[in-house]
Amino acid sequence: MPLFAPTALFRRVTYITPEYLRAHGIRALILDVDNTLTAHGSQELPPEVEAWLGQMRAAGVRLVIASNNMPRRVAPFAKRVGLDYQAFCCKPSPFGLRRARRSMGVPRGAVALVGDQIFTDSLGANLYGIPMLMVEPMAEDIKPTIRLKRMLEKPILARYDKKGGPRYGWDAEQNENAERTGK
Ligand SMILES: [Mg+2]
Repeated sequence: MPLFAPTALFRRVTYITPEYLRAHGIRALILDVDNTLTAHGSQELPPEVEAWLGQMRAAGVRLVIASNNMPRRVAPFAKRVGLDYQAFCCKPSPFGLRRARRSMGVPRGAVALVGDQIFTDSLGANLYGIPMLMVEPMAEDIKPTIRLKRMLEKPILARYDKKGGPRYGWDAEQNENAERTGK
C-alpha cells in the first residue's frame, strides 16, 4: 500500500531532528496543525513544540502550516506560532501542498510533510511525491469520523511495521520489536 504508507514514524514532532532532515535532503517542512503541533482544535502551543520550532528555524529549515481546517481555526494559531499558513488545503489533494511548498520558494525535492493522519496527510504527501514524516496524534481523538479513520489506519501501520519502517522516539524495546517483525 505504498500510496498510504508514511516515510518515517515519529513519536512526536520533537523527535524530528535537523540531522535527520539534513541526511534526507529536506530543507523545508509543511506542517499539519491538528494533533501534530497541538491538540485538535486547540490554540495552545506546547512549550516543547515551541522549542522544536525554534530548533528548526535555527537550523535554517523553512516552515509553513498547511491545514484542511478553516482560516478562523488556523490563522490565530499560525500567528501565535509566527508562521505563514495555508488553510482549506483539501489534503489528500496535492494542490494545497503545492501552494504551501511554493509559498516557501523551495523545490519539491527539498520538502517533506509532517502530519498525523494516513488518509489526509500521508496519502496527500505520496500523491504529491514528497516524504511523509508521520507523528503520533498528540491527543485522543474526539471526533467519531477521525476515530473511524484511526481504525482504518491500523492495518496500514501494521504493514509498515512488518516491513521494518523506521520509528523514532519509541523506547529501545519497541524499536527492537519493530525491527524484529520487519525481518
Ligand atoms: Mg492532523
